[in-house]
Amino acid sequence: MNIHFWGAARTVTGSMHLIEANGRRVLLDCGMYHGRRKEAFERNRNIPFDAASVDVVVLSHAHIDHSGNLPTLVRAGFRGEIYSTGATRDLAALLLMDSARIQESDVARVNRRRRKQGKTLFEPLYTEDDVVETIDRFVTIPYHRSREILPGIAVRFIDAGHMLGSTSVVLDVDAVGERRRLLFSGDIGRPGLPILRDPQTIGDVDHVIMESTYGNRLHEPADQAQDYLLETVRRCCDRGGKLLIPSFAVGRTQELAYRLNQLWHSGDLPPLDVYIDTPLGVRTTEVYRLHPECFDREMVQRLQTDPDGDPLGFDRLTYIKKADESRRLNDLEGPAIIISPSGMCEGGRILHHLIHHGGKKSTTILFVGFQAQGTLGRHILEGGREARIYGDPYPIRAKVRRAGAYSAHGDREQLVEWIEEVRETGSPKQIFLVHGEEQSSLALKETLEGRGFPSVHVPERGSVAEL
Ligand SMILES: [Zn+2]
Repeated sequence: MNIHFWGAARTVTGSMHLIEANGRRVLLDCGMYHGRRKEAFERNRNIPFDAASVDVVVLSHAHIDHSGNLPTLVRAGFRGEIYSTGATRDLAALLLMDSARIQESDVARVNRRRRKQGKTLFEPLYTEDDVVETIDRFVTIPYHRSREILPGIAVRFIDAGHMLGSTSVVLDVDAVGERRRLLFSGDIGRPGLPILRDPQTIGDVDHVIMESTYGNRLHEPADQAQDYLLETVRRCCDRGGKLLIPSFAVGRTQELAYRLNQLWHSGDLPPLDVYIDTPLGVRTTEVYRLHPECFDREMVQRLQTDPDGDPLGFDRLTYIKKADESRRLNDLEGPAIIISPSGMCEGGRILHHLIHHGGKKSTTILFVGFQAQGTLGRHILEGGREARIYGDPYPIRAKVRRAGAYSAHGDREQLVEWIEEVRETGSPKQIFLVHGEEQSSLALKETLEGRGFPSVHVPERGSVAEL
């Protein structure tokens, strides 16, 4: 058995690990890479192995940096099945369709400029047709059910507590009388996140591929998330400006809706309008309702006890679908909250809000998620006072805040707790740290070695580990 690390190796995005076992090939995740634009463009377009040679894909969760390049894989000749939970399939259908649309419209916009300049035109990475073909390949498996997906290779999903339907993937490989268990963490959530259950683990693990996004950092406690949000909203109201929250449409947006709902019903939220500006918003919330099997106990109770029966909505919260309604927010007077993707400001409607409101001193931009290197979100977070959007420069004069309490990823201590729990039934022989920027993965490696884990690696992109 071996693992070929093709993505999220010494970086955070583009999750993609190719497992070879029993003469078969299993691809864990096929995510979109975000980073410097030219590099991202090249890397996402070129699948680094023969797509047709992959037998099956196992998808840990629906986030685009894990699922976003599946249509490219299908386009490149992949003809197998894609295994995931039901919620992941449903969310991936929404996210991939949205991704195709954004890419088609972004490419059209860039091409208008290139045509004027006499340059060659770009093609979108994939289209809605490619997404339809991709979704057709999904086969869903519920949590905790072991299923043989190839001869001698069984998969089982346990809850990763990171987003609706998110999993850690357990691969049991039987090869000539020897059984080996590989655990792929996916993205590990934080205990105590609203809506979701806490991350789970499994024992008797031989090899681990583990995320390390926050391998060198501790979060502010999750219970401060509510207070920080409220404080930011109040300050924003005092300044009379907009509060822009770049947020991925699925997951963090529902968490924000849930928290704002609580603040509204407790009477703490100042009287202002809240807009969730993404065509995905309403549809995602509908998917949430279809998957109570993914909820924690509190969310199940709130479904019954919420004053208007909707823990993800309230009177002053508007979900915006249509582009002309979104454009109306450009001229909106007075304070308001606008939650809009993409979470790293790499596309989507948040770019228009940055163009129209980012240059005003009364605006606040609140980052509630991780900002990868090379993204516009990271640039603004690090104090960039000019944003290049669709090739043009725009000033950023808004106040910038980061809500550390909001991560959907475990911090260093929670990652260590997770792997310690795995070790309770015997130490894994090897641990591969992925899905973290280099210094973060290396720091976690040092921490784990300090705790006596024998063989901890931070693989380079393109490297192979023989197991
Ligand atoms: Zn994720």
